Amino acid sequence: MSNIKKYLAYNKSVRAIAIDATSMVQEIRDIHNLSNVVTAALGRVMIVSAMIATTLKNDDDRLTVIIKGEGEIGNLTVCANSSLDIKGYVTNPQVELPLNSEGKLDVGGAIGAGTLTVIKDIGLKEPYVGTCELLTGEIGDDFAYYFNVSEQTPSVVSVGVLIGKDGNVQKAGGYIIQPLPECEDKVIDKLESINIKLPSMTELMNENRNIDDIIKNATGDMDVEVVYENDARVKCDCSQKRIENTIIALGKEEAQKILKENGILELSCNFCNKKYSFNEQDLEKIFKK
Ligand SMILES: [Zn+2]
Repeated sequence: MSNIKKYLAYNKSVRAIAIDATSMVQEIRDIHNLSNVVTAALGRVMIVSAMIATTLKNDDDRLTVIIKGEGEIGNLTVCANSSLDIKGYVTNPQVELPLNSEGKLDVGGAIGAGTLTVIKDIGLKEPYVGTCELLTGEIGDDFAYYFNVSEQTPSVVSVGVLIGKDGNVQKAGGYIIQPLPECEDKVIDKLESINIKLPSMTELMNENRNIDDIIKNATGDMDVEVVYENDARVKCDCSQKRIENTIIALGKEEAQKILKENGILELSCNFCNKKYSFNEQDLEKIFKK
């Protein structure tokens, strides 16, 4: 079963993407032992990133999404490739905040004011970089604003993470709907009126609707066409070699100092927490290169 799909609606004049990311968000929660509000925050960013990653074409294309917030979470970083391997981490994974005035996890409060940056490395000389201010820090609104101002693509973005009483992820998912330039005005009006009234993504998922049903409801077109399906998953591509680059960036002196103090130089991958250790001979080899 694929968990992410792309669709065309209204005679190919509207495109849509939807993802059921329940297991993906549970996995990132488990890797970093995230608090509830951070699970919702990082989960939402990973959900939208997975959907954007479906627009990457080549094997080596890479997407990086960075949110720099002034709130307690700090920064959120998510990377994805065209095979939809997704990884992410935050500065402060255990932040907890009281629920907001609507009784929901206060993602906007935990992220705070700041910026959203999208970097697409698609094999050109320079990567594509788009940045905008955060609108609310609730992620869905912020990406809708980003698509509008940075990519000139009006978009509906719905994204949600529902956490159960046991602390596990009950439902997580999202969708993006984008009218293409040839889309008729009456279709755009219809999309707007539907999406103002539509329940949240997790409420729709809780009604046991699959993503096909959700897209039919969110577009109002019962004849949507599936044009792509794939599986997005949490997967890190770290290696000894990549960690060596971190040590090189650290500098020989600093690396040797840490080694001397601790007897061993151990670094762990930010994205998956896998540990890599280096001894004196390793360091010598690295800095000889
Ligand atoms: Zn890793």
